[in-house]
Amino acid sequence: MPCVVVRYHEIALKGGNRARFVQRLMSNLRDATTGLGVVAAQSLQGRVLLRLADGAPIATVCERVANTFGVANYSAGIEMRVDLDTMRAAVLAAARAEPFTTFAIRARRADKTFPLTSPVLAGTLGAAVVEHVGGRVDLEHPDLEITVEILPKAAYVSGGKRPGPGGLPVTSSGRVTCLMSGGIDSPVAAYRMMQRGCRVDFVHFSGAPYTSRASVDKAYDLVEQLTRYQLRSELRVVPFGEIQSEIVARVPRSHRVVLYRRMMLRIAAALGQRGARVLVTGESLGQVSSQTLENMQTIAAATPALVLRPLVGMDKTEIIQQAERIGTFATSILPDQDCCTLFTPAHPTTRASIAEAEAAERLLDVPALVAQGVAGAVRKQFIFPPALAVRHLKPEDDERAHPRSA
Ligand code: ATP
Ligand code: MG
Repeated sequence: MPCVVVRYHEIALKGGNRARFVQRLMSNLRDATTGLGVVAAQSLQGRVLLRLADGAPIATVCERVANTFGVANYSAGIEMRVDLDTMRAAVLAAARAEPFTTFAIRARRADKTFPLTSPVLAGTLGAAVVEHVGGRVDLEHPDLEITVEILPKAAYVSGGKRPGPGGLPVTSSGRVTCLMSGGIDSPVAAYRMMQRGCRVDFVHFSGAPYTSRASVDKAYDLVEQLTRYQLRSELRVVPFGEIQSEIVARVPRSHRVVLYRRMMLRIAAALGQRGARVLVTGESLGQVSSQTLENMQTIAAATPALVLRPLVGMDKTEIIQQAERIGTFATSILPDQDCCTLFTPAHPTTRASIAEAEAAERLLDVPALVAQGVAGAVRKQFIFPPALAVRHLKPEDDERAHPRSA
């Protein structure tokens, strides 16, 4: 029977919480592979074993596993009865499946009633590979590692290890709300929080009614991309144009951007899941004038929520590389009219103090503007893969129909 052997590292270290992490990982793997012929997910000797029906699309299953946080590495393999000839045939097939010059057989005999010890078994199978397929044994740095594991009821032969994304299984760390523009940075910030086991809810502020839908469509696309890593997402789109024009009308020009951000944080915190008072932004120190230490402090002071900035110490080039890897870059660079391009002053301040921001906000009815933003928010849910959506998503889950522009 075909199978995929999934290995975890970091979550293996979680001591007393280990069972909970493994359960979460298994449930995420099951969801990610919905409809792909995975007939069972089982925790076995410190790994997760996915059993596949014959003929299941194993390459697609592997793709999904490769995007599941908590997976250190994985390999496609075969489950079989404990029998030396059967294992030898499977090892030869695994060796023929990949190009290599050097190889190693890693044998593990969890069932000590099997007559050959692990080293003898590895030696026997390795000799068969040299004889029938070729190559040279290198136990230190092999091109190809073939793993043979013998458990009481079955044996497993798996081929080359492929890396997973690491991190912790999504939702094991809780829930956060990411302020997502259509830019390059915030999707990467969201990805990094998912990698640390967070389920990320999204809030996008559009310039509506003063801008086109372009930024909203980009936000949809970006959340859709990112949902491949967390399987379920929620995006709230807040029309922010009127709120901005209120700020523009009443506060000093140089402080607009900082006040926009403070208002965004307050609205996002108000929209956050019950108890989830953690906000995430894509800010990176010094990247633009609003992202100085002083401004960041003044922006975060607008809310008692914890404000996390996972990109704060990253260079733009590193952020772009990661955006390319996770598949959001191409969408992020599409032209749009972000709300932040509305009424942006030529010389925004780099040093807005908390006192200055609070003084400027005394000219505004802040609670009313927050309430206006919350009331205008439209929610949309995303689910991946589509087969999972059939199980979980009802059309009425979206608060309002939100037709896409052409
Ligand atoms: P990004 O690439 O994420 O747009 P940026 O470098 O352009 O970031 P800013 O425009 O200063 O930076 O925005 C800083 C952060 O504020 C963003 O990373 C995002 O978290 C939040 N933000 C900015 N504009 C919006 C928006 N329209 N909707 C939601 N969040 C936003
Ligand atoms: Mg931006």
